[in-house]
Amino acid sequence: SQQRLELMGALGRAIQGQQMVLYFQPKINLRDNQIYAFEALVRWQHPELGLIPPSEFIPLAEMSTLIYPLTRWVLEHSIRQCRAWHQLGFALGVSVNLSVRNLMDERIVADLRRMLALYNLPADALELEITESMIMHDPERALKVLDQLADLGINLSIDDFGTGYSSLAYLKRLPVRTLKIDYSFVCGMLTDKQDQIIVHSTINLAHNLGLYVVAEGVESAEVWAELKDLGCDAAQGFYLGVPMHARDSIDWLNSGIWSQKAKTD
Ligand code: C2E
Ligand code: MG
Ligand code: MG
Repeated sequence: SQQRLELMGALGRAIQGQQMVLYFQPKINLRDNQIYAFEALVRWQHPELGLIPPSEFIPLAEMSTLIYPLTRWVLEHSIRQCRAWHQLGFALGVSVNLSVRNLMDERIVADLRRMLALYNLPADALELEITESMIMHDPERALKVLDQLADLGINLSIDDFGTGYSSLAYLKRLPVRTLKIDYSFVCGMLTDKQDQIIVHSTINLAHNLGLYVVAEGVESAEVWAELKDLGCDAAQGFYLGVPMHARDSIDWLNSGIWSQKAKTD
């Protein structure tokens, strides 16, 4: 449609014109109650429309080639921000979400090698989040890129686990370290018996496969406590920390109860 084309044009200019902003949401380890990484979540600061959420422009970017410069921008700024936390004495990781087209493009491997070297960030400080449907789109090709990323030392995780139709046969072959349980199961797990079973089974599945497991969408102390009982490794959610602007992440790190041990010097 005309409106969509206009928005796409505006998005292209926005990526070049500093209208993209990253928000960072803490990931908290359930064993020691401490932050170990932030997830980068992109927003579009539109001059007239205000802050636009990713659900409204990522699909547009994915329909065009804009997803390439957008992902490069997010990766570069996430790596740069991670370096800044390190320089302040916080040895944290950063996670970035990828789109299916990024996995079909082998240039991403060289791009990432270059960016990590440029900002002097160890590869294992970076995690890339991919979804099941992204892999199932073209499993052989995805596997090839994922193997190269893993060889660089980058961590890979499966986002929104349980919502796609992944084959366990592929899961077994993927060089992933982490499964992220989708928030739709986590937020209802105290009231819905089936959600509770799904969360519990996913934690066991992950652990039996030797994977780390993260619950997303933790909105209350009760869910947090239940995840501890179930042996989940880490969690993310509004109860622990909302997505925040980079400068607020520093204030949060300096004052938060979830970050007492994060400072290394
Ligand atoms: P995601 O990667 O699964 O990110 C989690 C989403 O859940 C984020 O929404 C986050 O703000 C929200 N969230 C966090 N804690 C809670 C909670 O306790 N309760 C609830 N109800 N929601 C919570 P956001 O920032 O709107 O991002 C939505 C999706 O957009 C992301 O889902 C991701 O798939 C995509 N996305 C975000 N940034 C990027 C990006 O840079 N590149 C790509 N390709 N996709 C991105
Ligand atoms: Mg994610
Ligand atoms: Mg998710």
